[in-house]
Amino acid sequence: MISSSMIALGKKRSCIRELFEYGVRQAEVVGKENIYDFSIGNPSVPAPEETSVTIQGLLHGDSLALHGYTPASGCMDARVAVAADLAKRSHDSIRPENVFFTCGAAPAIVATVRALAVEDAEFMVLAPYFAEYPMYITSNGGKMVVVPPDTDSFQIHVDWVEERLTPHTQAIVVNSPNNPSGVVYSAETLKKLAEVLTRKSREFGHPIYIIADEPYRELVYDGADTVYIPTIYPNTVICYSYSKSLSMPGERIGYACVPDSAADSADLFAAIAGAARTIGHVCAPSMMQKVIALNTVLRPKVELYDKNRKTLYSALTDMGYECVKPQGAFYMMVKALGGDSKAFSERAKRENLLIVPTDDFGCPGYVRLSTCVSPDMIERSLPVFRKLIENS
Ligand code: PLP
Repeated sequence: MISSSMIALGKKRSCIRELFEYGVRQAEVVGKENIYDFSIGNPSVPAPEETSVTIQGLLHGDSLALHGYTPASGCMDARVAVAADLAKRSHDSIRPENVFFTCGAAPAIVATVRALAVEDAEFMVLAPYFAEYPMYITSNGGKMVVVPPDTDSFQIHVDWVEERLTPHTQAIVVNSPNNPSGVVYSAETLKKLAEVLTRKSREFGHPIYIIADEPYRELVYDGADTVYIPTIYPNTVICYSYSKSLSMPGERIGYACVPDSAADSADLFAAIAGAARTIGHVCAPSMMQKVIALNTVLRPKVELYDKNRKTLYSALTDMGYECVKPQGAFYMMVKALGGDSKAFSERAKRENLLIVPTDDFGCPGYVRLSTCVSPDMIERSLPVFRKLIENS
């Protein structure tokens, strides 16, 4: 017998992938230049030149060492480099032993969920949330509790969080800069959240952890500041990825970091390592660990994403669309014309404009545009956006 729940998961197509693949097929019919694909979050800025130079250098070295298994938690030189990089940001002492290398942020989050998935465990997510969270949580022993979106500000509505905390709450996933809204949670909001979590942890007699999902940490604009959450809330696990910051999502490299300040940090780290084993983790790609060891100082070039963000935001708001102004990541949410996100996405699709309804992100009524696209495509897409609003 085959697991019916896994069949269902395997068959359930992500609407992002569906739109993206439709675009590839449709390009053969109408020509690539007539497709306006804002569906997928694949970086459109090449990986920094330094990473190619590093890889070429590594390929001339000891091949056995380069391609061999590493310790499950990662090579010590890469862990030392990441700890030093994080310590700069946090003014906190992060040790290499706090860092567990993973194949990107996704398995770091899954391992952390599994590590905390005791009986009846609840994991809170804040809408709008990354559409894969339900899979990460409910398939790994957790119940997902959704905090509705505060569509006035897209910040965290801390009172709504508090109302939903129960003695079973094990963790809350905090993703800032946010996919899909592009919003960066303010220090004020995060401090309020920390106060509530601290008080409730005391009341329930166990820590409620924050799982800080931070793949867009450095992708911020207009001087927006991403708070290093462990400094305001020690019980935080950082799940990071180089997928977006170094434009290498296919290389699968990231980490979970459990600072010493987190409650039961040694046990939590061990549980994350154990949980990673259960999902088949052996080690993160060896060559990429070495690339990271030598390149932790690199930061993403955000100029193109910023330019796209500004062009789209001002062009669409001038036309009359209601847009959520992004301060980070490379996405923008736009209110669906007519109010129904799926219907609006379908209407746009008929014009070869591929925009993602946000229902699966827990926030119906909007569409998500990935702004990691070519500026030229944005210019070509504007008449279509205009046509849609004029005909609505
Ligand atoms: N979390 C968020 C918010 C994301 O947007 C993504 C990828 O798009 C991930 C996690 C997964 O990242 P990775 O590719 O590093 O596994």
